[in-house]
Amino acid sequence: MRSEPDPPPMTLGNAAAAHARFTVWCKACGYRAEPDPGEQARWYRPETPVPDWRARLVCSQCGSRNLDMVVTGQRCDFLSRASLSDRL
Ligand SMILES: [Zn+2]
Repeated sequence: MRSEPDPPPMTLGNAAAAHARFTVWCKACGYRAEPDPGEQARWYRPETPVPDWRARLVCSQCGSRNLDMVVTGQRCDFLSRASLSDRL
């Protein structure tokens, strides 16, 4: 029975487990980076939600916080309970 209206947000640990790729770019200077989710999960914590992680990002080139990001390459089942409880 599926009765979960609010699935938890993807975390860094989920992203790493799902082999997702992050592409981050600075809207101020155009700097672009692809931080490794596994590395980010170690630096921060695997249970850090991706939106929280993103909110902490600062451009390493110009110091702007005006960043945007996309997550690509993740398996489409990353929100399933099974994959969530797997690695945490
Ligand atoms: Zn910048």
